Amino acid sequence: MQQSDLSIIDHYVKNANDINALQVEDSRLSKSKSYLKIIGILYYPHTNSQENLKSSDVETILKQNYIFDNISLASRPRIIKVSPKSNMAIVWIDIWDVQSGHNAKLLINRCFNVGRANMNPGVPQCKNCWKWGHSTFSCRIQGAKCVKCNGPYKSKHHREFSWCCKANAKTNPPRLETKKGKPCPHTFKCSNCKGDHQADSNHCLFWRHRFNREWHVKKYAEICENRSQSIHSEGNGRFNQ
Ligand SMILES: [Zn+2]
Ligand SMILES: [Zn+2]
Ligand SMILES: [Zn+2]
Ligand SMILES: [Zn+2]
Repeated sequence: MQQSDLSIIDHYVKNANDINALQVEDSRLSKSKSYLKIIGILYYPHTNSQENLKSSDVETILKQNYIFDNISLASRPRIIKVSPKSNMAIVWIDIWDVQSGHNAKLLINRCFNVGRANMNPGVPQCKNCWKWGHSTFSCRIQGAKCVKCNGPYKSKHHREFSWCCKANAKTNPPRLETKKGKPCPHTFKCSNCKGDHQADSNHCLFWRHRFNREWHVKKYAEICENRSQSIHSEGNGRFNQ
C-alpha cells in the first residue's frame, strides 16, 4: 500500500453517507508507537506562578527543540511528579515510529535544553495570535487569529470563515466553496513574514531563527518602524477638514 492508496481510502470513507467527515482521522501507513520517558523537566516551570507543567507546555518544548523536528506525537504527553516533595516531573510521550523503533533510537539518551526558570529555550510563538516573542498564556489580543490566513477566528474554523474557502463567482475562474471536512487547498499567508505558508510553518524565516532572540527583536523593531512610517505617510493631509 502506498500514500496514493491512502487518499483513495480517505476519499471513500469521508464521502460515505452516514459519516461525519470531520470526525474521521486521515488514514496512514501502518506504524508502531514508541514510548519514551523524559526526565529533568521542572514540575513547576513558571517563575512567578505555582502552575504546574501541562501537556501543552511539553508540546511547546518539543516543538522548539530541533531534535524533535521530524517526530510526531501519537497522543498527548503525560506528566507525573517524581515524588510529592519533588519539583521535578517525569514526562511520558508516545511517538509514531516505524516497526524497528528507528525514531525512538534517535532520541534515546539525547539531552535537550528546556531552560531553567523560563521554559522556553528559544523565542516562544503564541498559539493564539501566532506572533513570536510571547507565550500563548500571555497573549493580549481579544479572540484568536487563524494560523493560515490571520483572519479573526480560530484556525480550526478557517474553512467556514476565510474568504478563500468561500464560493466567489467574480473570480476567474469562479471559485468553488471548499467542501466540509476538506482541508483548505489555497495558498496560506504567513502573518509574520508574509510568505506563502501558515504562521507556524518550519519554512518560515521566523521559525528558522527561533533560537535567536536578537534576530527576533531586531526584526519586530523593523516591522514596527515600517508600520509607523506607512501610517505616517497615509496620514498626511488627511486630518485637514
Ligand atoms: Zn499572542
Ligand atoms: Zn484562516
Ligand atoms: Zn481556502
Ligand atoms: Zn512566515
